[in-house]
Amino acid sequence: MLAPNKLDALAVTSAPNVRYLSGFSGSNGAMLVSAGSATLFTDPRYQIQAAEETGCKVVIARGPLLSRLMAVARRKRLRRLGFERNRISYQEFQTLTDNLAPGAELEPVAGLIERLRCLKDADEIEGIRRAMQIAVRAFEQAVRRVRIGMTEADLAAELDHHMRAGGAEAPAFETIVAAGERSALPHARPGAARLKAGHLVLIDMGALANGYASDMTRMLCLGVPSRKLRHMYNAVLEAQMAAIDAIRPGVPAAKVDRAARRVLRAHGLEKLFVHSTGHGVGLEIHESPRLGKQSRDRLEAGMVVTVEPGVYLEGFGGIRIEDTVVVTSDGAEVLTRLSKELRIL
Ligand code: ZN
Ligand code: ZN
Repeated sequence: MLAPNKLDALAVTSAPNVRYLSGFSGSNGAMLVSAGSATLFTDPRYQIQAAEETGCKVVIARGPLLSRLMAVARRKRLRRLGFERNRISYQEFQTLTDNLAPGAELEPVAGLIERLRCLKDADEIEGIRRAMQIAVRAFEQAVRRVRIGMTEADLAAELDHHMRAGGAEAPAFETIVAAGERSALPHARPGAARLKAGHLVLIDMGALANGYASDMTRMLCLGVPSRKLRHMYNAVLEAQMAAIDAIRPGVPAAKVDRAARRVLRAHGLEKLFVHSTGHGVGLEIHESPRLGKQSRDRLEAGMVVTVEPGVYLEGFGGIRIEDTVVVTSDGAEVLTRLSKELRIL
């Protein structure tokens, strides 16, 4: 990707991009990638780990990584140096400019490595599949322990515990548990609110395994659901399945979003669907492609995306159903192997 962008080299500063290119999973790393070589820069804390995790040349820097990186770029006479404009702090940018050789240029680029990352190879898909299995198992185990009177935070802790015990490195993001009316907040933070009889409970969770994330949302109902709730639930489920049905290689991502929106419109619920239908999942929980109205992405085999339409009614509650899905050569494979029926406890 360097030649078409007329770059001699790329300075990679985003941790997931560094990990994707080198295998290095430490928190402080940068890379200098040119046509013939790739060098990882990190600090002495990571000397042993870097040697274990990566096959590329490693430079242990004692000061700022990017001044060492620029010293190497100067020595190699790299003239057009790309940097990740959306993955760099102002201070890091200043380090690049302060250390630029006379006559050399900095070229802001975005999305180069991300474009490679959105197509997953078989090992990566296996990683996400495993992360999904861990999340599904943890969900089943935690749901058995749901009791009236426990707090959202208690249930979130149960879910996180079972993910860790089941082999996750960590939750892939802060687990969402939202009970009753609070489920109308699409990204509620679990708190002291208690689960009550009749409550609807939204659980959005995912595990991180070998660096790869999974993402799923399921709904519980603590008692007999009302007619209104049934209607909303069935509409979201129908929208979610219509969106999955629309997935195949070559399809614009925006078309998958439209498929979900069309179903909700038919049920008079489109205005309550306030976010996009899904997003790519991989080393990051949110990555390319985007499955939204404005998306210009096109689906390709090997992409892994979520499908998660939802409706949110203030003062009543919210419903979202989310699966992680692989785009295959002829359609979609759902990795979230878990019933999508409303779970009535
Ligand atoms: Zn989610
Ligand atoms: Zn998601």
